[in-house]
Amino acid sequence: MSVFEHKSFDDHEKVLFATDPATGLKAILAVHSTARGPAVGGCRMWTYDSSADALTDVLRLSQGMSYKNIMADLPIGGGKSVIMRPSGDFDRAALFEAFGRALESLNGQYISAEDVGVSPDDMVNARRATRHVVGLPEGTGDPSPITAQGVFMGIEAAVERGLGKSDVSGVKIAVQGATGHVGAYLVKRLAEAGAELFLADINEPALKALASETGATIVEDPNAIYDVEADVFTPCALGSIINAETIDRLKVKIVAGAANNQLETREMGAELQKRGILYAPDYVINAGGIINVMGELDSRFDADWVQGKLRTLKQTLGEIMDKASDEGRPANVVSDEIARQRLAEAAEKKKLAA
Ligand code: NAD
Repeated sequence: MSVFEHKSFDDHEKVLFATDPATGLKAILAVHSTARGPAVGGCRMWTYDSSADALTDVLRLSQGMSYKNIMADLPIGGGKSVIMRPSGDFDRAALFEAFGRALESLNGQYISAEDVGVSPDDMVNARRATRHVVGLPEGTGDPSPITAQGVFMGIEAAVERGLGKSDVSGVKIAVQGATGHVGAYLVKRLAEAGAELFLADINEPALKALASETGATIVEDPNAIYDVEADVFTPCALGSIINAETIDRLKVKIVAGAANNQLETREMGAELQKRGILYAPDYVINAGGIINVMGELDSRFDADWVQGKLRTLKQTLGEIMDKASDEGRPANVVSDEIARQRLAEAAEKKKLAA
């Protein structure tokens, strides 16, 4: 397994491999950039086939957090951690306390929240060994409603450009992962605004309930969501769903949704553009949650501040899509370029201030 030569290494400032045989902890904590402040990003627990897979995941996610946080102009850097889920029974509280000790050894350079497979209670257990955690039950709470609000505003920005419409009324939107934490809030908001909705999820009972509440149409086979003739495809479930298999099935003009790492490869952005599909870069449109978490780091970041940040985020997303369209380039490439430039400027400023 290569580390420095890894294709996603991208000059990570620090990568910590942490083990604790007593609890079965095998974790990788990745700090991509602290140029704007301590790196902040979630901890994911997942059953990985190998430590090489875990490393690839954490490096990609950590770089993504740097991009997300700098595009939302937050005074934090980017990092992420993964725990390789132990096989068989394990003491979950002890495992997360051991994770907390690993986190503590980074002296605040990385602050962790929860991600897939990790709950606020797990963060409480990590907190026994370190102060450097957010996403606690008594903290800012579930970030999903704010993430959904940001995605809603981002869809409005995309619809304005892709369809020439000032709102989403009558716009056909196909939502994948409709009943999830973000999906359910978003679907209700879109329904209130008059969108015509097509919903897919593997949770059938929840899907039925949501469709009857919102008057949406159910897409019976979750995999058929890619074939729906709609204006917008809104992925709110899994990553890598825009790939060589799905791209030719899409019959939409816009892809805009909450899921992280939607494009399987960077080249998929160009493929979308070739097909005349407008793409809202995922790490820009879905930054509402991390914006909300800022309230746990500093009380200045209150609810009004969060709402102001969401409005700025919508503007930033619009500017990226406009620049991409003016220059005839993929929106993900334009966005990555801006993020990298901002990171380089922040690193330079930090160096001068030292
Ligand atoms: P979640 O687990 O609550 O929701 C995911 C939903 O997708 C579930 O309802 C699940 O049943 C459904 N699903 C899983 N596989 C599916 C499939 N094959 N087809 C259709 N539906 C399927 O997760 P969430 O917190 O709502 O997050 C959704 C996405 O948004 C994730 O990619 C996450 O990384 C990203 N995201 C979430 C937040 C947040 O604030 N929660 C912030 C930023 C990004």
